[in-house]
Amino acid sequence: MPVDMARLLGAGGEGDNWLTYGRTYDEHRFSPLQQINAGNVAGLKPSWHFDLPVDARAQESTPLIIDGVMYVTTAWSHVYALDAATGMLKWSYDPKVPGHTGIDACCDVVNRGLAAWQGRVYLGTLDGRLVALDAATGRPVWDVSTIPAGSRATITGAPRVIKGKVIIGNGGAEKSARGYLSAYDADTGKLIWRFYTVPGKPGVKDGSASDEVLAKIASKTWRGQWWKGGGGGTVWDAMAYDPQLDLLYFGTDNGGPWNKKFRSPGYSDDLFITSIIAVRPDTGEYVWHFQNTPGEMWDYSATQSLVLADLTIDGQVRHVIMQAPKNGYFYVLDRQTGKPISIHQYVDSLTWAKGVDPVTGRPQINPDAQYDHTGKPWLGAPGPGGGHNWMPMSFSPQTGLVYIPVIEVSFPYIGQSSYHPTLFDFNVGIDMNAGSLPQDPVIKAAAIKGLKGHLTAWDPVAQKEVWRVTVNHPWNGGTLATAGHVVYEGDAMGTFSAYHDTDGKLLWSVQTGTGILAPPISYAVAGTQYIAVETGWGGAFAFSAGELALKTQINRGNIPRVIVFALNGTDKIPAPPPAAAAALTALPELGNATQIMQGKLQYHTFCNNCHGDTAVSGGVLPDLRFSAALRDDDLFQKIVHDGILEPKGMVAFGSVLQPKSIELIRAYVTHRVNESVAEAKAANGASGAGAAN
Ligand code: CA
Repeated sequence: MPVDMARLLGAGGEGDNWLTYGRTYDEHRFSPLQQINAGNVAGLKPSWHFDLPVDARAQESTPLIIDGVMYVTTAWSHVYALDAATGMLKWSYDPKVPGHTGIDACCDVVNRGLAAWQGRVYLGTLDGRLVALDAATGRPVWDVSTIPAGSRATITGAPRVIKGKVIIGNGGAEKSARGYLSAYDADTGKLIWRFYTVPGKPGVKDGSASDEVLAKIASKTWRGQWWKGGGGGTVWDAMAYDPQLDLLYFGTDNGGPWNKKFRSPGYSDDLFITSIIAVRPDTGEYVWHFQNTPGEMWDYSATQSLVLADLTIDGQVRHVIMQAPKNGYFYVLDRQTGKPISIHQYVDSLTWAKGVDPVTGRPQINPDAQYDHTGKPWLGAPGPGGGHNWMPMSFSPQTGLVYIPVIEVSFPYIGQSSYHPTLFDFNVGIDMNAGSLPQDPVIKAAAIKGLKGHLTAWDPVAQKEVWRVTVNHPWNGGTLATAGHVVYEGDAMGTFSAYHDTDGKLLWSVQTGTGILAPPISYAVAGTQYIAVETGWGGAFAFSAGELALKTQINRGNIPRVIVFALNGTDKIPAPPPAAAAALTALPELGNATQIMQGKLQYHTFCNNCHGDTAVSGGVLPDLRFSAALRDDDLFQKIVHDGILEPKGMVAFGSVLQPKSIELIRAYVTHRVNESVAEAKAANGASGAGAAN
């Protein structure tokens, strides 16, 4: 039976299946199955696993389950169709995303999942295409580009299908993109409507669903020549749909560039960045918006999970939409009007605002946080990773609680005095170099110790935390709630755990040997309930936090895999390969202190966002300190300047970096090798070469 509107509307009752990204249009990620429950989950065992033959990059997919078949996506936008009971491969599809697209993705070459409709599954690819695949064979039926030629926008999120329209946005606020959401005809791939989230060049109409509201409401909230930098507001993840109200909700990203001075100088709201927007799914017609962070300049996107529920608040049933966006406040809004019902801080540390007006939802912004005006560095909490990122939260209608993977990481925001966007830079207008980790051992140890995350059970009616489990890593996985009173979450340390949903008591856990980011799902085949999760470590924190990410992660390897558990499971999770004993040896320095500092600035402009802060990889991409090319100036130029490793995603930087700048970067990384050797020596009290990590 094909997936149609009746099945999608009734998806909550199809316990065996998982038909849409958040399982149901209200995005609860709540499974009604209870064969596996709080009383017996301690006996959960691996049932099957499937090693995904893809690059060991972040894996973020929510698999779909349709009548015994699992459809799961991977890094580089591949799709695998597996027998959901056995893990046997049915088909796979590789959209052949060009390697150079990798650098356009802010946060790894990830994909979060598919949508299903009438015997097809729909995939957004990293290079901005929307592809319809025959669900039985994996054969492409149509394939359209959703982004302008030359754009650096990428698709990492899962589409949704509503009434025969495939809805998709994209990411790229840090890459000079202008945000929009589009609807395509599921049969033909024809564009039906598009809603731009920020105004374009004044006087130029898009001929889109958003023209009128942008002219009427949004344009006057911008200053300067914002359109030249794109403006941001990209729609890269969250959506939800209310069939009764016939409203499609989506969240928008931060402004681009972050530094408001170079985006829209002065005090202005810059609508509709960092907002929830409600539109008609048939036409894209605007109905309401709610902006959580007016004039945003800290990467506080509002693209995090949107969850719809009917809650009894002050004796009245309220139809709400809930979000825990990056900015650290938990929002409960009336989803018919977009008006706030209640707003409360859900993170421990929040420094950018002094509170929120309960009626309008407008924050009272801390003047010190406005680094564009003060010209001074400011330590912000949350940082750019947010209090909560893309890892989905779940909601149990049984407990009335929301289960949020919370991040507690601050970040020093230092505005640049001048700004020149480039092709490969992280175009944000702040000094990324200044935030790099000091090598002082005391400061370093304190910084590593200070990193944490927690799984928080949040009561959205009382707006308070009910329980939490602290994890010694901030970058943990999405959550699943079930009718068996069990909440599941994987973490960066490779542990996959089951907690009691009312008190957070640990009921079961297993070490998978690789970091987990993806949200688990539950489904059933022939009367057996399964819990499934995709494993694989990576993403923004793993990339940019370098040593902080590495030292707090178990670093046992990085294995792209689907692992499925059941009570009668008889599979074994293969042990991770033993970590190679990495040792560094001292190298001759290639520059003086000034040149090394210049190389550091170049490194933290062009390289750190993937290869890690202070030239220490967070465990995903190659650690440049170990690169053989460090000892070979010609090979180093061939890789960095000429791009001989482009198929792997390492593009040619020749258009933005002169050979002599590249040589300065080599001098800086070489210096870091020697610092690491000295550090290891001091730690081991040993002579000669020491282990680097
Ligand atoms: Ca962002």
